[in-house]
Amino acid sequence: MRSLFLLALVGIMIFSSCTKVPVTGRRQVNLLPESALISTSLTSYQEFLKDNKPIRSGRDYDMVKRVGGKIAAAANDYLRQHKQLKRVKNFKWEFNLVGEDAANAWAMPGGKVVVYKGILPITKDETGLAVVLGHEVAHAIARHGNERVSQQMGLTLGGIGLSVAASNKPQETQDIINAAYGLGTSAGVLLPFSRKHESEADKMGLIFMAMAGYNPREAAAFWTRMNQKGGANVPELLSTHPSHGTRIKDINDFLPTALQYYKGK
Ligand SMILES: [Zn+2]
Repeated sequence: MRSLFLLALVGIMIFSSCTKVPVTGRRQVNLLPESALISTSLTSYQEFLKDNKPIRSGRDYDMVKRVGGKIAAAANDYLRQHKQLKRVKNFKWEFNLVGEDAANAWAMPGGKVVVYKGILPITKDETGLAVVLGHEVAHAIARHGNERVSQQMGLTLGGIGLSVAASNKPQETQDIINAAYGLGTSAGVLLPFSRKHESEADKMGLIFMAMAGYNPREAAAFWTRMNQKGGANVPELLSTHPSHGTRIKDINDFLPTALQYYKGK
């Protein structure tokens, strides 16, 4: 009887925490409360920016702010049009450029995005940067970090709640969050970035860049440059390596859908 009751309770919890990823419509279950994850992630983010001073002026800085602002506005528009704006209700979009040489970028829950200077020779221009930022903004909106962190917490911390974990095991919790976004190497582990998450972020990113006025036809060329020049040490953007061919095919297959959102030629 008791187990039946528990089963029903678990069922209710899963049902009530079930949400749908924008664009793909994939159902998500067992997510941590997003608001708790956002505040815990903020600690990691602020620590990262303390160690890696953001660039505060210049052409590259201006470009990151400009493209980031357009992509975030487009993403918010998409969510508004599809009545999913509550997914970003605790977000405060922020786009920072840091002087690191790695060809990397990542986004945290809550809309905290970091671009490494080393990726700019590969993005080449604003459209290339829009591909990267569309992809990263999509990860945050799709709550991929949340899925990774909740899965890892279930494995290593026995599924205790995030706030309990953060106060009882602050270092372990921070390590998991850092590992989920591939930032820093102090954690010693990198949670695997799944093909499913990458594919979702690619599709959503194509729509966001198109809505922001950037030609989504340029995306495949960027990923090809990234694949050639990114090197092995790019945990986030090339996590699907070596399935570069599949990524390009998927992007080309999705292009007609993305082009419906593109006003240019
Ligand atoms: Zn990614």
